[in-house]
Amino acid sequence: MSVRENLEKVKARMVAAEARAGRPAGSVRLVAVSKTQPMEKIRAAYEAGQRLFGENYAQELRDKAEALKDLPDLALHFIGTLQKNKAKYVVPVAAMFEALDDLGLARELDKRAAAASRILPVLVEVNLGEEQKGGVRPDDLAGFLAALRGLPSMRVEGLMCIPPPCEDPESTRPFFRKVALLGREHGLGALSMGMSSDFEVAIEEGATLVRVGTAIFGERSYPAR
Ligand SMILES: *Cc1c(COP(=O)(O)O)cnc(C)c1O
Repeated sequence: MSVRENLEKVKARMVAAEARAGRPAGSVRLVAVSKTQPMEKIRAAYEAGQRLFGENYAQELRDKAEALKDLPDLALHFIGTLQKNKAKYVVPVAAMFEALDDLGLARELDKRAAAASRILPVLVEVNLGEEQKGGVRPDDLAGFLAALRGLPSMRVEGLMCIPPPCEDPESTRPFFRKVALLGREHGLGALSMGMSSDFEVAIEEGATLVRVGTAIFGERSYPAR
């Protein structure tokens, strides 16, 4: 199957999930996760109409942004974990930073955004349980959000989550529901949740962004670092 065909299938499944949830068709944005994927596949997705892509690694994001700068309206979200010393690669090229969970990193991103004369939209990653390394625990969320409000070049738009991997998409539904509830509690509109294995469930539970890699591009060409 071609990237175009895969993309069309994913979009059709998104529309069906939106309908089941009583949400307008096209209301959920698709982040095509292109980490480790070659340029040709990204360009194929772009030619098929996809404009928003997700990358996990700082240098890879920077290099791809440079290599793809001929494509109008291309937007790249950084969705991985980031070491502070690599913030400089990400801030100039990322349309959004999706997985913020550390105040020291937030300060560095804010400083870099100020230096680049821009406001950086971010999502805060929520930690949903012991099995998960990253993310802010629900009890710490209010304090973390309050601290971020003091950073002038950063704008918190919502929450993101990466539930523990599991075979059955239904088993992630409670996690998505919990994140949606936290979003409402904290007055945050954007929710990035759902991947290839469970994006439909995430849409039913209120995702506004889904991050889908394998279902569009196929297996990754080398394992995630
Ligand atoms: C790789 C990755 C995805 C995409 O995963 P697939 O299972 O290939 O759809 C989504 N979100 C994050 C944070 C990722 O690292």
